[in-house]
Amino acid sequence: MRFDLTEDQRALRDAVREFTETEIEPQARDLDREEEYPSDVFDELSERRLTGVTLPEEYGGRGEGLVELALMIEELSVGLMSVASTIGLHLGVAEVVERFGTGRQREEFLPEMASFDTVGALGLSEADAGSNKLEMETTAERDGDEWVLDGHKQWVTNFLDADYVLTYAKTGPEEDAPHNISAFLVPTADFEVETVWETLGANSVKSPRVTLSNVRVPDARLVGEEGEGYVQRGDLQTGVNVPARGVGIARAALEDTVAYTSSREQYDQHISDFQGVRWEVGEMAERVDTARLLTLRAADRADRGYDGTREFSMAKISATQAAVDNANEAMQLHGGIGYTTEHDVERYLRDAKLLTVAGGPNEGHKNTLAEAVFEQHDD
Ligand SMILES: Cc1cc2nc3c(=O)[nH]c(=O)nc-3n(C[C@H](O)[C@H](O)[C@H](O)COP(=O)(O)OP(=O)(O)OC[C@H]3O[C@@H](n4cnc5c(N)ncnc54)[C@H](O)[C@@H]3O)c2cc1C
Repeated sequence: MRFDLTEDQRALRDAVREFTETEIEPQARDLDREEEYPSDVFDELSERRLTGVTLPEEYGGRGEGLVELALMIEELSVGLMSVASTIGLHLGVAEVVERFGTGRQREEFLPEMASFDTVGALGLSEADAGSNKLEMETTAERDGDEWVLDGHKQWVTNFLDADYVLTYAKTGPEEDAPHNISAFLVPTADFEVETVWETLGANSVKSPRVTLSNVRVPDARLVGEEGEGYVQRGDLQTGVNVPARGVGIARAALEDTVAYTSSREQYDQHISDFQGVRWEVGEMAERVDTARLLTLRAADRADRGYDGTREFSMAKISATQAAVDNANEAMQLHGGIGYTTEHDVERYLRDAKLLTVAGGPNEGHKNTLAEAVFEQHDD
């Protein structure tokens, strides 16, 4: 068994790393503070054909796998988590169109999505449908060859700069659950923005609450089989972008801490020379490696067509907690200055905290993991 990346994977990772260092890191602090959308970053990513990294080449994508996606997202997240989440969610919407959409939908949407000229956002969660999406209240009723949608969506990341929201709505009775939810591509212009929250982190890309009142959507915008939208999500694989974002923040926190503790002096020595600090930095590195290995394992299994339920849950729990723990420790080891915006570690902590909740709270993933472990035991 080998743990090395291929030459092509290394080349992709290095190219995105260089991009992050030159195009994202110099402005990350300002983008966060000013709550400014990083459009120039997305333009550049599109120019380099990275916005469609996992989409097939026939649609203008790069046809890469999930390992490559995880590598790219880690690098982007080292620079600014919001950039990584926007791309990750966009590619998640594109994956649904690619895998479950009609030939016509693929032709219409995927080339534009690959180039980021059409940007997708995810409208799954609602006020009372957080961890349990089956509680959603948004409905879609058929009227001839159209659907009429009513309801709201909450936490639609990148809504303000997206073109379409992949919107989940109930199309069947409760007794048919979970086969009573369908997915529709609804233009963002058809929604009304209700609340744009002030959040702890992820400041440069907003995740508002939006409403739909009597919005008519043609049948041609129903993606996948009627009633199967929610169930189909269980098959999606681009979700590996969430743990990959965790790996990125955990690594950024480690790198900043190594640099800072190696230059800061107290008691006539670098603070990196204190044994307690060295052990802590060693543990931070261990968390990064564990998180990355678990994330790449989950991605690799998905690329090879194996069931990765157990592996994905482990990666999500481990990598997102690693991000929180490393960011927290980085702040501690930066002392008082780490508590200011003069360094990035306070942003890492604010951004990291989102990841143990977004993509489903870690408690839910612990349930899934435990179920898989017991199932395996019973086999
Ligand atoms: C900034 C941001 C961006 C987001 N972006 C998107 C997006 O683009 N699209 C989208 O559809 N959604 C998005 N979400 C929504 C996100 O997926 C939900 O917040 C998440 O699924 C949890 O739902 P909730 O917030 O309602 O928490 P709740 O379901 O109310 O849970 C609250 C807490 O209860 C605990 N809990 C929940 N379930 C269990 C359990 N089974 N066992 C033990 N404890 C449990 C956990 O600690 C959990 O954090 C985003 C959220 C945020 C904050």
